[in-house]
Amino acid sequence: MKAARSLPQAGGRALPVTFAPLLIEWQRQFGRSGLPWQNTRDPYRVWLSEVMLQQTQVSTVLSYYPRFLDRFPTVGALAEGSIDEVMALWSGLGYYSRARNLHRCAQAVMSEHGGAFPDTADRLETLPGIGASTAAAIAAFCHGQRVSILDGNVRRVLSRLLAFDGDLAQTQPQRELWHLAQSLLPSAPSRDDMTAYTQGLMDLGATVCLRSKPQCSRCPVQSVCQAHASDQVQRFPVKTRRLQRRFESWWLLLVCRAASDGSQQFWLGRRPDRGIWAGLYAPPVFPDEAALHAALMTGAHQDLVPLEPVSHSLTHRELRLHPLLLRVTAEQGMAGLPEGQWVSATSLADWGLPAPVRQMLAALS
Ligand code: SF4
Repeated sequence: MKAARSLPQAGGRALPVTFAPLLIEWQRQFGRSGLPWQNTRDPYRVWLSEVMLQQTQVSTVLSYYPRFLDRFPTVGALAEGSIDEVMALWSGLGYYSRARNLHRCAQAVMSEHGGAFPDTADRLETLPGIGASTAAAIAAFCHGQRVSILDGNVRRVLSRLLAFDGDLAQTQPQRELWHLAQSLLPSAPSRDDMTAYTQGLMDLGATVCLRSKPQCSRCPVQSVCQAHASDQVQRFPVKTRRLQRRFESWWLLLVCRAASDGSQQFWLGRRPDRGIWAGLYAPPVFPDEAALHAALMTGAHQDLVPLEPVSHSLTHRELRLHPLLLRVTAEQGMAGLPEGQWVSATSLADWGLPAPVRQMLAALS
């Protein structure tokens, strides 16, 4: 390992000047290189992968990414597609606002930028759903712009590297860390250097500087890491505000009937554009069992079959789902139930469904 050298002037903080060269060298030798969204400078493909990878693991994105590109190979095709189709392809990835913004962003690229993504991070950031870190990733990977990403993983790496003790739940320390990230960038990098550096930051956060078990013994920047030097790795990053999860129970009415060809159909409605499962299709949801019973047609209560409750974690909520199955005949009306339509069990893959709903319906099909 090279000896640590520091640059004293960066907001009064000593920055290791060897960080960038060490990271680039390591990424070229040991970093990830065969992922389907690498080795391209096509902003559409890079943007799509960046959005999918927010809060979703690489192993999951690996199956969604090619499917999405098969259906929407260009930003123009995505802009012209229907939001329902986008939601169906996104179904199971979670954080569905990403999919809605993806669609809106594609339309903005077509209508406001002539079908070409802007080529700087500042201008990319004006598009729907593109935050500062995603904009930086696109600009660095596709255009070699000297700008730093700073997603959750990179915040962790840099706060440990610099023993940065600002509270990352607060805006000012977040800004300070952003400036430090910019100061750590390689000086006068080539396009390829920026690709290796940006990918290196991602790889280090995802494979070495892990949240609970950092692999310091095989870390390429161990010699310049201040948290490691002071044996305080677990102290960083500092974040005081912890996520408060609310617990909520939902009652789901799974109405099911046999179609004339013998296949099953389910009664599904489109969820409102805001809130949990926004824009997805789901069975009627009720806040409690009494409300569900009140919505049922006379005489149907005794036919309800309670199914196994399911727990479902979201960022801010812990949902307990209570499904109740009601089998009806073709003649029975749906009066009283929220608006919806019959969806065939054989076409569920074409619909944007929340993951637990998809599992429940699959078990009944
Ligand atoms: Fe993270 Fe350890 Fe590497 Fe420091 S030495 S950057 S704490 S993995």
